Amino acid sequence: MVKIPIRILLVDDEKDFSEMLSLRLNELGEKVTCAYSGQECLQALEKTNIDVIILDIKMPGMDGIETLREVKRRFPLVEVIMLTGHGSTETAVEGMKLGAFDYLMKPADFDDLSAKLEGARKRKDEQEERVRLAESKLLVRKSGGT
Ligand SMILES: [Mg+2]
Repeated sequence: MVKIPIRILLVDDEKDFSEMLSLRLNELGEKVTCAYSGQECLQALEKTNIDVIILDIKMPGMDGIETLREVKRRFPLVEVIMLTGHGSTETAVEGMKLGAFDYLMKPADFDDLSAKLEGARKRKDEQEERVRLAESKLLVRKSGGT
């Protein structure tokens, strides 16, 4: 079976970490774009179709939670997995209430991350399908059908 790559946006201010992780995800056949701040994350979303964002919570300037709010406001169907350090589990829970799919503790276990990425992509696909269905019903109604 042909694997359909997950289009991932990796957002983390630690460049070494991002490079290593994106290499591994690329090896798995995923398509990774890197951003190093909240601002860069939003700019990347304007230009690129993304399925899942891996979002670091602790970043200078616009932090992960602030970025998450903005992402969910402007790109509600994009799924977000948060990366947290020790002691920021509460922030991760707050993030999930704001619409994040899940979170991972750093250093993230790769298999765990990989499973969560699949889960997030699946949720996005299903949600997009529901939106498409609702839109087509709306069209039928507008054109006078039943
Ligand atoms: Mg950081």
